[in-house]
Amino acid sequence: MTGALTSAVTFGNSFARDLPEMAVPWQAEEFPDARLIVLNEQLSGELGLEPAFLRSPDGVALLCGNAVPDGTTPVAQAYAGHQFGGYSPRLGDGRALLLGDLTDPQGRMRDVHLKGSGATPFARAGDGLAALGPMLREYVISEAMDALGIPTTRSLAVVTTGASVYRETVLPGAVLARVASSHLRVGSFQYAAASGNADLRDRLVRHAIRRHYPHLEGAENPALALFDAVLSAQASLIARWMLVGFVHGVMNTDNMTISGETIDYGPCAFMDAFDPATVYSSIDVGGRYAYGNQPAIGEWNLARFAETLLPAFHDDREQAIAIAQEALGAFRGRYTEAWRTGFLAKLGLRDDADETAVDQLINDLLALLHANHVDYTSFFRMLGGAVHGPSEPVRTRFLDLAAIDAWIERWRAFGPDAELMARVNPAYIPRNHLVEEALAAATDGDLDPFHRLLEAVTQPFHERSGWERYAEQAPEDFGAYRTFCGT
Ligand code: AMP
Ligand code: MG
Repeated sequence: MTGALTSAVTFGNSFARDLPEMAVPWQAEEFPDARLIVLNEQLSGELGLEPAFLRSPDGVALLCGNAVPDGTTPVAQAYAGHQFGGYSPRLGDGRALLLGDLTDPQGRMRDVHLKGSGATPFARAGDGLAALGPMLREYVISEAMDALGIPTTRSLAVVTTGASVYRETVLPGAVLARVASSHLRVGSFQYAAASGNADLRDRLVRHAIRRHYPHLEGAENPALALFDAVLSAQASLIARWMLVGFVHGVMNTDNMTISGETIDYGPCAFMDAFDPATVYSSIDVGGRYAYGNQPAIGEWNLARFAETLLPAFHDDREQAIAIAQEALGAFRGRYTEAWRTGFLAKLGLRDDADETAVDQLINDLLALLHANHVDYTSFFRMLGGAVHGPSEPVRTRFLDLAAIDAWIERWRAFGPDAELMARVNPAYIPRNHLVEEALAAATDGDLDPFHRLLEAVTQPFHERSGWERYAEQAPEDFGAYRTFCGT
């Protein structure tokens, strides 16, 4: 039974209050046998929620939506979106609920959101449920991203529901409780724009500015100022994905946040061998969301965002389009600057190195990594060891030894900083073969591999003895990796 709950933290519902047209009050399915599987104690503390409370029956009921905190009403959020380039006017939370928002002890407003809590009016043909493996997958990958310093939604807990989920096989059902600075997406603006309600659009602009870019309050053209801020946040985010070899896998406009946080860890994966054409998602047959396409897709999604704001940019459509084009024109420069700064750090180089020579060095390296099928993450970590030590461990990853030797000599001439490299090049990422191993064991009831993987990837730069297998590339026989949506 859904009951009211008084917890130490006061929940609000600013989204539903400001934007009722986009919030459908809804309840989670009943899960009488819900059981806590993993709790993020550090994040609970950050939110001001007592871990002991979250472990109690009332806490578990909160984490699966069966108890609702005082002061809030869970809602399914409405949004639209371009999926693989095709527009869907009505997507929305098909299997998720926004429980509400809370202001953490640092004064930051955070959404608490449940995924896998049952079908909502947006579920279409879906069952509204989620399986344990994919929810643990989102948990470990999002926490790894946070530890890597990449803006992301966070994972607070995974609860098994006690109900079965029917996919290719029968799987244990689960709810992920996730935390985000908001769940506003480009698709939220597409929904507001399509409604034709200019007041709704303007309220959404104000709500987004207040939550994410309060320094823009009072801007002469709030919509344009918001657009520019989101463009910067997205450019920087995608640059960071590229630098760590992250493939999001489903960069539909409904999965692009206004905050610039990574959201929706469905078919995502970290790239093993460097290849811009890397695709993991089973449904991305055209490679639209391939690793190397992500910056261009980010720009395309921002163009869709700009379209939703045209009437707010200027009354005259021609002028509005000119404004949008100029604003969008900033994306490539901001992306390239963020990526280049990050890549220089990966190579241990300072920003004042000769620009043409450094760009040539970077391009030659990427070509070598690609041609020699070199594991992306471990390459940079091992390269750091070649600043003062022998280049042997890193050069043997290449078939073309003469080419990598010549490249290392050129690179050393720049005087790379090994300490800087160790700070930015992770030793541990959620490698595909390790993630699969951990999730298979968890689905069979053994959570130890999951907890060990989590421990490795939440301290990604701190290399520890005894953890070598977490830093190693995938075994030869791991083969092609496939990921899935809607799991
Ligand atoms: P995604 O691209 O994975 O973020 O999901 C796209 C849309 O499908 C969203 O509207 C989701 O809420 C919805 N969806 C995905 N899986 C399910 C499911 N099992 N049941 C209902 N809706 C779902
Ligand atoms: Mg989504």
